[in-house]
This record gives sequence, structure tokens and C-alpha cells, in this order.
Amino acid sequence: MKKTVAIDGPAGAGKSTVAKLAAKKLGYIYIDTGAMYRAAAWKMLESGAEPTDENIVGVAEKLDVSLRFAGDSVRVFADDTDVTEAIRTPEVTALVSKVAQIGPVRTKMVQLQRKMAKDGGVVMDGRDIASNVLPNADVKIYLTASIEERALRRWKEMKAKGYEEPMEALKDEIAARDKADSERSISPLVRVPEATLLDTTGMTIEEVVRTVMELCGEGQ
Ligand code: C5P
Repeated sequence: MKKTVAIDGPAGAGKSTVAKLAAKKLGYIYIDTGAMYRAAAWKMLESGAEPTDENIVGVAEKLDVSLRFAGDSVRVFADDTDVTEAIRTPEVTALVSKVAQIGPVRTKMVQLQRKMAKDGGVVMDGRDIASNVLPNADVKIYLTASIEERALRRWKEMKAKGYEEPMEALKDEIAARDKADSERSISPLVRVPEATLLDTTGMTIEEVVRTVMELCGEGQ
């Protein structure tokens, strides 16, 4: 039977890397819910208007966010624009938590996410997947790592994309995003009691994926 797998956790914990690899091994699709909020933030910046709550709601209501699957790859679209790379810039990252705090934005994204998961066979990562989007998920995992390790991983990822950001600035950005995501009033980042806590500090990607596969009942 095709399962639904929910992976939540703070910024930079390696959720997307691990979720993508686990989905591939399971033959499931990988749904990156953060990318959907990032697409809304990108569209807001693209409009050039002030990112007030009102303007964000206006932009998000009109926006058609879609994840398009082709083999192993997933492309993120904001209306007809492929924004897969554009949503990873520091500017989008700086705005996304503000966008994700707004009720009507979340309602729209959560509706889309549930629709994509309705037939099972999905690994979905985010902040509120086990607690809100898919409370009946078959497997629930809370993935985390120390802030130092998360900042280092993000630094390497950004460097590979041509962005040289000071480590301290990255650490501050991650901490600020974690605070905003954990303290917001609507669907904050939480570890639900039934989720397995997986602290990946000091673990290799392969080790983490192996553990996730075991939790999915699929020893390698
Ligand atoms: O996962 P990623 O770091 O790309 O997510 C970007 C932002 O989107 C998070 O910092 C958070 O503000 C928001 N988000 C959310 N709920 C989700 C996924 C992401 O609020 N399920």
C-alpha cells in the first residue's frame, strides 16, 4: 500500500535532500511545501510592490503555484514561470517566513498540498505536515540538527550556487526563520508527540536516508 510520509523540521535540517532521496527509493513523489511558500514570496518581490500583508494576500490569491514532475525531477512554477532556481535566492529566503504567516496564504497552499497527497505515495516535507496538512500520515518524522551544522550545510549549498554568505549571517538568518516559524499563531513548526525525532548532527546523508527508509518499513 502506498503510504504518506510527513517530514517536518527547522530550516537547513536537510529535509529536502533526504525526502527527495527517500521518495526516489520508495517510488513516491516528493512534495516540497517550502517551495510553494517561496514561489509566493518570489511573486511578491517580482511585483515590485511593498510586501504588506494586504499585498501578499492579493498576490497569493491570484497566483497559480504548481509542482511539475518529470521523471526524478520536480520543477516549481509560479503561473507560467519556472522559478525552481529563482526561489532559492537570499531575497526570497528573507521574505518567505512573513509570507507563510498569513492565514489566507496558508489556506490556499494547504488545500493544494492535501490534493497532491490524496492518493498516497508521497513524501512531503515542511513545517506543519504532520500537525496540520496530513495529520493521518502513515510515517511522521521530525528531522533536525544543531544550528552550527545546519548553517554549515546551508553555506555549502549556497556556495555551490555562487552565493558567498558569511557563516554568522547564515546562522542568524536560520535562527530568525526558526523563531518566526515556531512562534507564528497559525500552524507553527512543532514536533507532534508521535513523530520520530531524528537528529542528523554528525550523520551522513546515506545514514539519514537509511533510517528514514527503516521508519517507512523498508529496510535497504
Ligand atoms: O523548507 P524551506 O526552508 O524552503 O521553507 C521556506 C519557508 O516556508 C519556511 O521558513 C517557512 O516559513 C515556510 N514553510 C511553512 N510551512 C511549510 C513549509 C514551509 O510555513 N509546510
